[in-house]
Amino acid sequence: MASTKSLHVHENALAERVQRIKPSSTIAAAARAEALQAAGKKIINLSIGEPDFDTPEAIKMAAIKAIQQGHTKYTAVDGIKSLKQAVINKMARENRLHYELNQILISGGAKHSLYNFFSAVVNPGDEVIIPAPYWVSYPEMILLTDGKPVFVSAGMEQHFKITPAQLEAAITHKTRLIILNSPSNPSGMAYSEKELKALGEVLLRHPQVWIVTDDIYEHHLWNQTPFTNIVNACPELYDRTVVINSVSKTYAMTGWRIGYAAGPMNVIAAMKKAQSQNTSSPCSISQYAALEALEGDQACVRRMTQAYKERHDFIVGELQKMPGIKCLPSDGTFYTFPSIKGLLNPAKGVTNDIELAEFLLDEAEIVVIPGSAFGVADHIRLCYTTSMEKLVEAAERIHKAVKKLT
Ligand code: PMP
Ligand code: GLU
Repeated sequence: MASTKSLHVHENALAERVQRIKPSSTIAAAARAEALQAAGKKIINLSIGEPDFDTPEAIKMAAIKAIQQGHTKYTAVDGIKSLKQAVINKMARENRLHYELNQILISGGAKHSLYNFFSAVVNPGDEVIIPAPYWVSYPEMILLTDGKPVFVSAGMEQHFKITPAQLEAAITHKTRLIILNSPSNPSGMAYSEKELKALGEVLLRHPQVWIVTDDIYEHHLWNQTPFTNIVNACPELYDRTVVINSVSKTYAMTGWRIGYAAGPMNVIAAMKKAQSQNTSSPCSISQYAALEALEGDQACVRRMTQAYKERHDFIVGELQKMPGIKCLPSDGTFYTFPSIKGLLNPAKGVTNDIELAEFLLDEAEIVVIPGSAFGVADHIRLCYTTSMEKLVEAAERIHKAVKKLT
């Protein structure tokens, strides 16, 4: 029998690359919430950004049909042709962007699309500009691909959006890439077309910089419609922008793991080469489900967005009434990112956002994510992918708890 000693490898036995990164804090918080629920606690989980709605029936049926028809084998590395064509049609119809088949790569979720992209363009030591607050996985994926994250901070006073002057100041001869995400996880804010154009004008002066626009929350937008990304605002950037999207959030399909990238042929080909070695192909059955999602009736998307908007209005309204909290309305997504600076109270052992999140868990059995996980301290992220009934209770519990700090 193996001794227990042999079950643990010494740190030095692991690659330096993996020791550089930390596990996903959003996923860790959700796992913690689940464990506490299983232990009988009356937890309300406002942590992970995952739609609470079930995947629409027609999409599930398309997957069942795919299994019955024997679509259970590897597919082409870059995805089935019909799905790639559906992505092309969707991008022309909804995004006013035009691509050919060899400009599209289907992958195992937007996370995988992003990782393939970073693997394809980031060299060791390359600087990657990441506006903060940022989604937790961007810096870690850049570290995993040997790049150097360069953060540009945008606080609440600037609606969590970076300015052209900040962008200009952050660009050096080592800058390889900028990551844009609008509407943003975690801030919920979206850049206007005018703001994107101004950022685009800076980028036009620096032709060595790639741009990735992570559009996965494009449909969860109530201000600033229609949705606009940087290529819409600045078409001259088409040749060096990769658009990332996914069916995860739009169609409540997080578990199906289908995302996609659209961009210049040479970079898509490089990403495909990486994918041929790291995954073979995305899941065949999920690809048929995604095909139905993109080509079927879109009423489900409008219904879900409407529900997120109602929940947003409620929870933001409640947070704005609470002492010590400052909360801006979001333009979209299913997140809100209030400042909790006014709640910090050393006498009660709450000196930062991490301790506040712990306090809310202990006092109110509410799970939220501390802002520092997204690169901006003194804030928390609340995700409202939960029923109105639970949100009403969550607001009551939070209100009661925070009164103890003020
Ligand atoms: N980008 C952002 C901004 C996200 O919040 C997420 C969260 N899942 C992803 C990408 C990854 O999505 P997917 O489920 O398609 O991998
Ligand atoms: N993107 C979601 C979130 O931020 C899902 C979890 C993850 O992949 O980070 O909560």
